Amino acid sequence: MKRPPKPLGFADPGARYRAYKDEVDGAIRRVLDSGYYIGGPEVEAFESAFAAWSGRAHAVGVGNGTDALRLALMAHDIGAGDEVITVAHTAVATVAAISMAGATPRFVDVSPVHLLLDLDALDDARTTKTRAVIAVHLYGHPIDMDRLSAWCHAHDLVLIEDCAQAHGATWRGQPVGSWGRAAAYSFYPTKNLGALGDGGAVTSDDPALAARVRRLRSYGWDAQRLSHEPGINSRLDPIQAAILRVGLEHLDAEIARRRALAARYTKHLGGLPLRLPQVAPEAGHAWHLYVVRTAEREALAGHLRAAGVNPGVHYPAAAHQHPAWHDGSRLPVTERACAEVLSLPMHPALTHAEQDRVIAAVRAFFAPSEETR
Ligand SMILES: *Cc1c(COP(=O)(O)O)cnc(C)c1O
Repeated sequence: MKRPPKPLGFADPGARYRAYKDEVDGAIRRVLDSGYYIGGPEVEAFESAFAAWSGRAHAVGVGNGTDALRLALMAHDIGAGDEVITVAHTAVATVAAISMAGATPRFVDVSPVHLLLDLDALDDARTTKTRAVIAVHLYGHPIDMDRLSAWCHAHDLVLIEDCAQAHGATWRGQPVGSWGRAAAYSFYPTKNLGALGDGGAVTSDDPALAARVRRLRSYGWDAQRLSHEPGINSRLDPIQAAILRVGLEHLDAEIARRRALAARYTKHLGGLPLRLPQVAPEAGHAWHLYVVRTAEREALAGHLRAAGVNPGVHYPAAAHQHPAWHDGSRLPVTERACAEVLSLPMHPALTHAEQDRVIAAVRAFFAPSEETR
């Protein structure tokens, strides 16, 4: 009897390992043989390669994307008593980082079309305690950085970009991560550039800021191992750094592949009562996720699962809906999005045949309503 095909997930980091297995195995062996298991040449080599790739002067490898955000805040002396404006429609990691730095998140709603930070809501959210904005390029779609950087500049606020989902995205041709004072990246396995474990980086053009992050990631140490301020321990593992260097070689091709897959979804899912992701004309979308919206999200998800497709939901609860961050915020666009978003399989190893299965399953769900129109 023929076995049913393996369910298609919204991401497949295992498939990426299999695609570059020999290179990754070689990289891991190199680190094992080197005798350097914390810091050292592999981490430095990845840091310079990633800085060059992201178009910034400095990259500092850290333990994960949450710490990258936390350290970027700490390096600007943002902490207790300070407020940081961001969205609740994000990975809770963004908000956890603000809390870990000791600051208070101040949530703004998202815009209805792109589900990104609503720039019209900024003025109302700003208080005398506001010190920074964390701009989340959610799903890989960049925020309007012309407007956001101008606003931050006008109010003397630190702009930190959360690029955890946006490796490779651009606004008017300029890479995300190059607009603010600092940018934070995550290399969680499913991200556009993924490790085989945890990893993250802070990038910046400011040498003093990069040096401060470097010091803060290791107990506040200087070269003589004297702590100059209370730091943390958040280091990028050399094994992950070596693996990431392999991934970086393939990253541009993978992002191109994501773009081709997204165009294919958009072409073949047209005409259904389903909101497809929209792309601003200035945006170079990095397609970390392909997120559709429907009021029938739960029914569609159930239908897809029965057809061997495991979609994701990013995210079922907004940050202010988690008990940890209940703060009385009312964010109607965010709350509605959480009930409607569904992430279809989107990763570079997805084949056209697999994508066709997803497309057919989505179309079949809506077929009855198509017939009655
Ligand atoms: C993944 C992610 C992070 C942080 O990731 P880690 O899991 O800590 O590496 C931060 N912000 C966003 C938007 C993310 O998607």
